[in-house]
Amino acid sequence: MSHANEAAAVTDSTPYKDAGMSCGHCSYTLKPTYHQAFELVKLQPINCYQCSSDLLLDEADREVLDKKLQTATRIGKLAVLILGPYFLISMLTVLYFSFFAKPPFPGFTGVLFGGGLVIGFLLKSASTDSTERNFVLFKNGEQPAEPTQAA
Ligand SMILES: [Zn+2]
Repeated sequence: MSHANEAAAVTDSTPYKDAGMSCGHCSYTLKPTYHQAFELVKLQPINCYQCSSDLLLDEADREVLDKKLQTATRIGKLAVLILGPYFLISMLTVLYFSFFAKPPFPGFTGVLFGGGLVIGFLLKSASTDSTERNFVLFKNGEQPAEPTQAA
């Protein structure tokens, strides 16, 4: 679990909603957590809730998921880096204009906080890419996308 710190921005039980996943074995729709999504990227199988199969991602899908997670993590860190100082500066500015000076225009403090919300919204939409994707997981050891052969 040496990689746990990398995903510290999200807790292990946060549902991962950026992609759908389903069990290739029993077609059950899985609702993975971030923790499980990271497990899949690390080639650690997750269990199907319904048929208890050990499930893995096809390599191409694994790379797509890896990219999605890295983007989300990067934007999450960026959000903290940008919004933390932004709100600190906004707060100080608001205090300054409340006690020491007249605001440059009415509603100035509202604009500051509104700006923070807009930045937050932009970062949020940047972290969730719009490409809807449904990953079909396959049972550990089985090949994906191959019709089951009744030998
Ligand atoms: Zn299943």
